[in-house]
Amino acid sequence: MKHKLIIYLFIFISVIAYSQCKKHEQTTTPPSSVEDLAFTDAEKAIVFSNAKDTTLRILNYYIYADSLILRKQSRNIDFKDTTTLFYLTNRMFVSVIQSGGVGIAAPQLGINRNIIWVQRYDKGTLSSHPWELYMNPKITRYSDTTKLRSDGCLSLPGTNGLSSWRAIWVNVEYDLPNGTHKAEHISQEYTAHIFQHEIDHLRGIVFIDRLTQ
Ligand SMILES: [Zn+2]
Repeated sequence: MKHKLIIYLFIFISVIAYSQCKKHEQTTTPPSSVEDLAFTDAEKAIVFSNAKDTTLRILNYYIYADSLILRKQSRNIDFKDTTTLFYLTNRMFVSVIQSGGVGIAAPQLGINRNIIWVQRYDKGTLSSHPWELYMNPKITRYSDTTKLRSDGCLSLPGTNGLSSWRAIWVNVEYDLPNGTHKAEHISQEYTAHIFQHEIDHLRGIVFIDRLTQ
């Protein structure tokens, strides 16, 4: 009799455990296969807040709310929404030119998206180095050799005279505005430095994080 009771108890526990398992399976949402990259209403509100040829406010790391955005991981671009993309990249360009920077990343303007402008000091002439726009840029390789290089950031006003450790060359991959994917070796130290600084912004890293090796 006691033996039978133990068997019934075992079956009862097994049924309960199985039903719990089933319940867990049903409540687990399946992983989404494609991330929705459409610009959000909040992002569009910033992008279209003023005319296309006007600056956007550059976020200040020393303002708490701004620092939270600057510390966020950015997302890739939706190439289908060319209107928003063109408007945003234009305002980014006006902002960096007016502030006298050599590069800018979208999160510095409150948009956590993988977009950067870089002035190519390894191209053009001494008096005019071209500006180039990159979408979804990534560093695929850093040189083993690093150097302490003088650094600064439009989002860290007043933080002057500091140097950050940087690779002397990098390999980068990015998409051009027309969607073409490209890989490039950046051998010039200064240009490699700008790429590292701007791509860091897309990962929530600011240059003062690189003061030590
Ligand atoms: Zn910066």
